[in-house]
Amino acid sequence: MANRYRESLLDKERFTIEWEVVPGRGAFEKVQLDFIAKCEKAAAYGRIDALAVTDNPGGNPAISPEVMGAEVKKLGLEPITYFTCKDKNRNELESLLYGMARSEVSNLLVMSGDYPVAGYQGRSRPVFDLDPVHVLQLVSAMNEGLEFPGMKGTVKLKPTDFFPGAVVSPFKILESEQMVQYYKLKKKIAAGARFIITQTGYDARKFHELMQFRDQEGLDVPFIGNIYILPFGAAKAMSNNLVPGCVVTRRLVEVLDGERKAEDKGKKARLLRGAGMFAFMKGMGYDGVHISGLGVSFDDVVEVIERGEELVPEWQDIVAEFDYPQDNGFYYFRKQEGNILNRRERAPRTVRAALPFSYRLTRLVHNLCFEPAGLMFGLTQKLVAKWGESGFFRKFEHLVKVAMYDCMDCGDCALPDVAYLCPMSQCPKNQRNGACGGSYNGWCEVYPKEKRCVWVQAYERLKNYHEEGRIENNLVPPPNWDFFHTSSWVNYFSGRDHSAKKIGIKPPAGKG
Ligand code: SF4
Repeated sequence: MANRYRESLLDKERFTIEWEVVPGRGAFEKVQLDFIAKCEKAAAYGRIDALAVTDNPGGNPAISPEVMGAEVKKLGLEPITYFTCKDKNRNELESLLYGMARSEVSNLLVMSGDYPVAGYQGRSRPVFDLDPVHVLQLVSAMNEGLEFPGMKGTVKLKPTDFFPGAVVSPFKILESEQMVQYYKLKKKIAAGARFIITQTGYDARKFHELMQFRDQEGLDVPFIGNIYILPFGAAKAMSNNLVPGCVVTRRLVEVLDGERKAEDKGKKARLLRGAGMFAFMKGMGYDGVHISGLGVSFDDVVEVIERGEELVPEWQDIVAEFDYPQDNGFYYFRKQEGNILNRRERAPRTVRAALPFSYRLTRLVHNLCFEPAGLMFGLTQKLVAKWGESGFFRKFEHLVKVAMYDCMDCGDCALPDVAYLCPMSQCPKNQRNGACGGSYNGWCEVYPKEKRCVWVQAYERLKNYHEEGRIENNLVPPPNWDFFHTSSWVNYFSGRDHSAKKIGIKPPAGKG
């Protein structure tokens, strides 16, 4: 079916423009009326290819993006519906996808989503049953015609026509944080992401890095740069890490502080900044821009687009105004002399972290007893087969794993996938395939300055053994809740859980 957004992004000659609008909390409020009015104007203007509709932004409840996406479609514009994992389990996600397929709402931006912060009578329960890689796999399977076991054999559904995309942040400070973002980006594309949108940031060298990374890795999907029209208040919040994943340096905050003293409170300057970003992104080779910002009017968006187009020929001069590096920030490539952009050569990756004793011990025990080539694998498998179902053994396993890994007893253990850190208990968003976009300076989005992101730690641990690339190549499925509160050791040695299936472990003779 016709999809202007997809056609525009897949046409290498075209520069796609999308505008993000927040539909807000409520059904009949001013914010929804404004949303519709903006959509009508954008549709009539003709230069905007799609309207992006957020999903419970900032972890707050709001009207459903799937419903508002269908409204956008009726008004003659293509919607891009944000599709997040924070509030829905896998069945609810699939159910919503069927509804969207029927409404011809096809463009999805798949994300983990901001950790829930508020809700009716208190904070809502975070779900995160699937991560974005799993959702992209589900959507890809639906596009092929989803198959599942029925009463009389395999049932195959009619294929859907979704056009799914994903996000990436090139704006991370640490090598470990940045590398796990890039590993996950590649997994997202392999899982079916057909376009990529960047997080919010203002460091042009980082935008340039992402383009070079795309070329060097041969990532053949369109990339869209995010232009957040930045007022002083939002800049201050972002620089204090109060808006997960959005990066603004103190120096940029100072610049905005000066600009807001103007008669128009800095509006002209911030729209010009948006236009400058439009120009350098087009010049660098991005396939389009994603214009966003709270309180941004239709006229503001038009000004950014039209002024931006005028500035494109000057993009190489303009880019120098976006020199906002983070202190000691990691870059994937070396810097050009006398310019803020990158050379083609990779920068050294120097991070080395001390290894905790518990990691060394677990690695040793795992290699001896859990790896099929380990000296004690056969004996361990026999012991688990004999005693594994006994109450004493279950208690022993549980006590060891709670004490060492804060185990929540999911029974489908992913400790070996995350360098013996648990993505179920130690990652609040249960990310099994790499970090979410919210970490800051190595800290977890949900517990800044309190807990380090499990994926940052995993990278550092594995790098000591030159094994960090395993993160990129290891696709971890979602947990199978059939195993909840069962022995993961029994599930592993009897060949039932995801790790055993991947390695090809067979139950010992006579068991199974
Ligand atoms: S541990 Fe890392 S991946 Fe998990 S929520 Fe925190 S920042 Fe995100």
